[in-house]
Amino acid sequence: MDLTEELALANRILYDRGVVDGFGHVSVRDDRDPERFLLARSIAPGLVTAADVMGFALDGTALGGDTRTPYLERFIHGSIYRLRPDVGAIVHSHSAAVIPFGIVAGVTLRPVFHMSSFLRGPVPVFEIRDAAGPDNDMLVRDEKLGDALAISLGDNPTVLMRGHGSTTVGRSLPEAVFRAVYTEVNARLQAEAMRMGEVTFLSDKEALRSSASNAGQIARAWELWSRAVSSSS
Ligand code: MN
Repeated sequence: MDLTEELALANRILYDRGVVDGFGHVSVRDDRDPERFLLARSIAPGLVTAADVMGFALDGTALGGDTRTPYLERFIHGSIYRLRPDVGAIVHSHSAAVIPFGIVAGVTLRPVFHMSSFLRGPVPVFEIRDAAGPDNDMLVRDEKLGDALAISLGDNPTVLMRGHGSTTVGRSLPEAVFRAVYTEVNARLQAEAMRMGEVTFLSDKEALRSSASNAGQIARAWELWSRAVSSSS
């Protein structure tokens, strides 16, 4: 499948899985040039088709004289691709269940079950005030803020964004989508478990081993989730 088509599919899967709604976006590094990435024009993810996909330089400039309106927060993507050569795809979302973990002091998102073992928490939280000061609108609207977010992400698969959402990375679109879906599921389960009592998290060793086992299974989820959005369109 052409990378542009695969990106359009990733958009619709993330909408179907409840990770993005009218907002949020997913990008992929250009397989012909690692200094470029593909991202839809500013449109609801559930509506994206291949025709909506634009090309960008890592500084967020649209390529090829494309004058369509881009996402304001495209800097999230360019900055992470620059800092993380291992990253091939990025999901940014405002999915609800992760939000509490970015706003409650002393509570961190950590893997509670094997499907989210890639988290190997604690998951870092990006505080936009540290980069933009108190007078900010919560959005990663320039390269400076994109770079600050990328530094917060560090070597992790996911970074929470205080009062905003989260950003999740993977080597490929299927991996980034898988991780974004299960980051949201983990947040839901962890919040439920914390209400019931003391939580046993995966140990670092369990998370590491489980994550390695799951790496070979991601295609199975991608195949199912692709089918679900293809039959409904
Ligand atoms: Mn956002």
